[in-house]
Amino acid sequence: TSFAELGLSEWAVETCKELGMTKPTAVQAHCIPKILAGRDVLGLAQTGSGKTAAFALPILHRLAENPFGVFALVVTPTRELAFQMAEQFRALGSCLHLRCSVIVGGINMLDQGKSLMGRPHVVIATPGRLKVFLEGNPDIPSVFSKTKFLVLDEADRVLDVEFEEELRVVFQCLPKNRQTLLFSATMTSNLQTLVELSGNKAYFYEA
Ligand code: AMP
Repeated sequence: TSFAELGLSEWAVETCKELGMTKPTAVQAHCIPKILAGRDVLGLAQTGSGKTAAFALPILHRLAENPFGVFALVVTPTRELAFQMAEQFRALGSCLHLRCSVIVGGINMLDQGKSLMGRPHVVIATPGRLKVFLEGNPDIPSVFSKTKFLVLDEADRVLDVEFEEELRVVFQCLPKNRQTLLFSATMTSNLQTLVELSGNKAYFYEA
């Protein structure tokens, strides 16, 4: 299969080619059509499998059709992963004039707040700092009220008890009719519970 056969727009296919991505990886070939079709997805895939592009490409495809912010929220366990993720989103979305905010600890809160109020298309956040914003600034929760995609990257780690309180706050701010995309290296009981809570309708991919 090619990226075009997965249903992605020509600009996305061209961008992939420019980035040296000539052929979809397995996780991309399986998950991209399902995400474009509106399904929730639970993907078990390791780092290095191309999982980031597996969700970033269909999100950017849908964003290009109807751009408004905040379109997608990606929650990831660490700052480093958040910056890497943002880099991939910016590269894949380079021709969309993508506005992407990284909300993580250890960085100036004033700048991050301004960035969030500027209605970015994609927010990439760690759970702790995101909670601080959602609870600390009354203008922020409504920024997420029309979010179309929630992605939990490294979902096994994000769903750990350590982040339980943070996630509760995040989930409260998101609309119910969003698409939820979970990507994880391993299956855990917390992941299973989340999938069951959301009605067991997610497409399940395992490498
Ligand atoms: P990830 O699994 O998301 O951490 O991606 C690992 C690396 O693979 C990233 O640096 C991507 O740029 C690269 N990559 C993703 N998809 C492809 C592809 N279809 N062909 C070649 N490289 C890719």
